[in-house]
Amino acid sequence: MSTFHHHITRRPTHQIKIGNVLIGGEAPISVQSMTNTLTTDVEATLAQIQRLARAGCDLMRVSVPDSESVTAFAKLKPLSPVPLIADIHFDYKLAVAIAPFADKLRINPGNIGGKERVREIIHACKDHLVPIRIGVNGGSLPKDLYRQYGLSPQALVEAALRHIELFDELGFQDIVLSIKTSEVPLMVEACRQLSAQVDYPQHLGVTEAGPGIRGAARSALGIGLLLAEGIGDTIRVSLTGDKLQEVVVAYEILDTLGLRRCGIRWISCPTCARTSVDVEKVVLEAMEKVGDIPTPLTVAVMGCGVNGPGEAREADVGIACGVGSGLLFRRGEILRKVPESHLVDQLVDEILRLVDVSQ
Ligand code: SF4
Repeated sequence: MSTFHHHITRRPTHQIKIGNVLIGGEAPISVQSMTNTLTTDVEATLAQIQRLARAGCDLMRVSVPDSESVTAFAKLKPLSPVPLIADIHFDYKLAVAIAPFADKLRINPGNIGGKERVREIIHACKDHLVPIRIGVNGGSLPKDLYRQYGLSPQALVEAALRHIELFDELGFQDIVLSIKTSEVPLMVEACRQLSAQVDYPQHLGVTEAGPGIRGAARSALGIGLLLAEGIGDTIRVSLTGDKLQEVVVAYEILDTLGLRRCGIRWISCPTCARTSVDVEKVVLEAMEKVGDIPTPLTVAVMGCGVNGPGEAREADVGIACGVGSGLLFRRGEILRKVPESHLVDQLVDEILRLVDVSQ
């Protein structure tokens, strides 16, 4: 086992509670995602929430663009396995209407139509003990700040501080802050500056990060840089595509930094001229068969004898491939030699056995 212990000291933040999930303080960094079904399609939305919750998503955000969605949200709330966040834009009346049902509201006070309307939302949330995420986005900066500073960290931080001032006036402290832009260095610097000025918990994300592995890379860099500095209390990876991938990438980021584990850490080699077994096929088929299980295990599939036995031995379950076969390891011990045609099945059996034992 590695003797190197990586430790990140998190910046102290005020703790709040979203349903049964704590955010901030010493609470684990929570993972969020957002449904992309029609909210009014309660069945499809619930199915998506359940699928992501099974993969470890702690909180789900749901768009509420109209009054029909308020009704649908109210139906979803008691059925959801995780707390639900209502996402409201433009219409303060929807925010007031959803407050009795939501575990949290996400608003951008800049597009609600003036301080008075934001105050009404704050009063409604105060009455129902509902926290609010104040979301500042690069695409909707107040005009005067944009004129004065351009799209810059100063402008984004100033916009967030202005909103906070209004919440402070009304003694409302159940807030989470987020500053998001699709430009990673800008978002990172703005979140850093905000963190230096206030101790409210921060929600991190690179907005409109893009599809698949491109979006994952950009998100990992933006979110990861801040987490490595101890900034951030809850994260959302925004990807165009299957929402499940957002949760998978979020946990890869947290696991990579040693902040939180959920599910299997797959270690596999990039393959090269020495590879004599189809490593990619073995890994992808095994991943598919194992599915999304939250048990934290390390599984290694290595293509040859160079680093294979070493990595396979360190993992909970490992395979070090040779010519047309592989040595199967469990927690450092060689179990047996397995022909290539049985590698996937025996790897999966061994993983599921350890999952059963740890449950
Ligand atoms: Fe190549 Fe072996 Fe390294 Fe895989 S483990 S990349 S097969 S040298």
